[in-house]
Amino acid sequence: MPADRCPQAPWSSRAVSAGLSRLTRMTVSSGVTAPPTQRAASESRQLALETLQRVWGYPAFRGEQADIVDRVVSGGDALVLMPTGGGKSICYQVPTLLRNGVGVVVSPLIALMQDQVDALAAHGVRAAFLNSTQSPADRAAVERDLLSGELDLLYLAPERLRSEQTRALLDRATIGLFAIDEAHCVAQWGHDFRPDYLELSVLHERWPTVPRIALTATATPQTHREIAERLGLVDAAHFVSDFDRPNIQYRIEPKTAPLQQVLKFIRTEHDGDAGIVYCLSRNSVERTAAQLREHGIEALPYHAGLDADVRARNQARFLREDGIVMVATIAFGMGIDKPDVRFVAHLDLPKSIEGYYQETGRAGRDGLPSTAWLAYGLNDVVQQRRMIDQSEGGPARRRQLSAHLDAMLALCETIECRRVQLLAYFGQQSEPCGNCDTCIAPPEAWDGTIPAQKLLSTIVRLDRERHQRFGAVHLIDILVGKRSPRVAELGHESLTTFGIGSDIAEQDWRAIVRQLLAQGLVGVSGDGYGTLTLAAGSAAVLSGTTTVRLRRDPVRAPKGARTRRTAPPDIPAEALDLFEALRAWRAETARAQSVPAYVVFSDATLRGIAATRPTSIEALQEISGIGAAKRDAYGEAVLAVVARESDAQVR
Ligand code: ADP
Ligand code: ZN
Repeated sequence: MPADRCPQAPWSSRAVSAGLSRLTRMTVSSGVTAPPTQRAASESRQLALETLQRVWGYPAFRGEQADIVDRVVSGGDALVLMPTGGGKSICYQVPTLLRNGVGVVVSPLIALMQDQVDALAAHGVRAAFLNSTQSPADRAAVERDLLSGELDLLYLAPERLRSEQTRALLDRATIGLFAIDEAHCVAQWGHDFRPDYLELSVLHERWPTVPRIALTATATPQTHREIAERLGLVDAAHFVSDFDRPNIQYRIEPKTAPLQQVLKFIRTEHDGDAGIVYCLSRNSVERTAAQLREHGIEALPYHAGLDADVRARNQARFLREDGIVMVATIAFGMGIDKPDVRFVAHLDLPKSIEGYYQETGRAGRDGLPSTAWLAYGLNDVVQQRRMIDQSEGGPARRRQLSAHLDAMLALCETIECRRVQLLAYFGQQSEPCGNCDTCIAPPEAWDGTIPAQKLLSTIVRLDRERHQRFGAVHLIDILVGKRSPRVAELGHESLTTFGIGSDIAEQDWRAIVRQLLAQGLVGVSGDGYGTLTLAAGSAAVLSGTTTVRLRRDPVRAPKGARTRRTAPPDIPAEALDLFEALRAWRAETARAQSVPAYVVFSDATLRGIAATRPTSIEALQEISGIGAAKRDAYGEAVLAVVARESDAQVR
């Protein structure tokens, strides 16, 4: 299709859809061998591929992208479940360029809209957003462009669609499709519910003929069902991708001295890398960021209690500069499409596997080896169980929170492959991965029935004597026979269980208590003191009808963070200098244009250039990630860097 000869930019929706209808007419009138609809279908696929190649410079669609694009281009609804980094954006961006009208993207990520629009502009796609951060004049300009058909994509926050004004505005525009990004926000079961998303059922009621594509990286069967139901995606085609992220190494270790542990982790494995450290509370975010900085790590804090300015500045630095560590609550990260985040560390236990997988998924979007590291301990379990007990919302809500926590705990305590468990949670079968801590250094299992009985009988005795309010520390003191001031004061040396667990070290007792809590064999009372109590499963342990299987915490965390299953080809030694030169050029260019570096070119594209050393625009264009717009904007500059670097090498 000679789209290049169209008067508009070749990828503008008008140009392409004009091409498309011409194509359909052509097929219908030619009426030769293949049935016209079939031929139109295959030619529309061809057109989609050409668009991908011309605008984005990617040689081919990945995975199910081609089928998804095809579905939406032909006007059908789609529900897309694809892991982070899978390539969801292409699934609505390409169809938008092929359909008549603007693609309206509903996204909760106001703070990232500018970057998204900039990234599209770098590809020559005309995108804009409407949100509360804009001046009235900017907003009016966007509305004008929208109504005159000058936009390919329009980003909107879901709350915008509540206003009749916005709806009326969209009525006056031609809409090619609706993309509902982060669609799991509609699910109340999930971890990220946003009430505004419930309003999105209006899309189908008000614009019944406009196709909708809902996308998310969260994929438990429950959330999946809930998205389809709540968005009324009755006739949608469902596309569920492989959720594995093989380049991420999953590791969970016992929490002993969290700051020292995370420092060691960063220093020995990720010195100078960009990463995210998640903490549960605002206080621990502030504290951890300050401590990391004291130890020479470029760390910034991010949580909802900071001024909006500070948050925006820290986020911008994280995105734009190399090697920043963001210490954050889970308020940070959704939609962050920085491709080279090399690690995600959790210093507190996440509340659910869905949240954990989503957060860790922010590492390694570029497919290069990355680490998901979590430190977790006894206090995490006590604290979270207590928080659930004290949480608002009825018993059903508490049961739901408990179910989420239990699944997370089971993952932490497993002696099997972490990835097999994670993927099973999303309904996907797999084999042991070889790239998680339990695969690299399989932990031992042991029979912990007798220690469990000792602990439980101590709880029973304290309970009988109406000594309430004893947490793990005191119980362990009694078991190991430690005469702490509290033990002495209360006369607990006279308990028959005093010292009966002295064959086990204090540290190991903590691991035992933690695991009994995780397995629901010991409970926590809701009194706010973390008092350990009997639980539903305790009786069977005490009577000896159940045995207790525990894991022995590995003495040292496994080494080998850099082992990889699917290694991308590393840069050959002779291309390294050029790669570094290109990175320097990219940093300078990104700064000058005040966009994140990856908006200019991804690392993958720079590697491609460094490896092939193109000397002409034609050769440059062969490299994945260089479409027409980037070729025109940066082509000469890149060739100059290559030439300069090659000269330097010859000399
Ligand atoms: P997601 O939104 O699913 O997390 P993105 O849409 O941000 O993922 O895509 C992840 C990365 O993969 C981006 O750098 C993107 O440019 C790249 N990508 C997507 N589709 C392709 C493709 N067909 N070929 C090459 N790279 C692709
Ligand atoms: Zn594994």
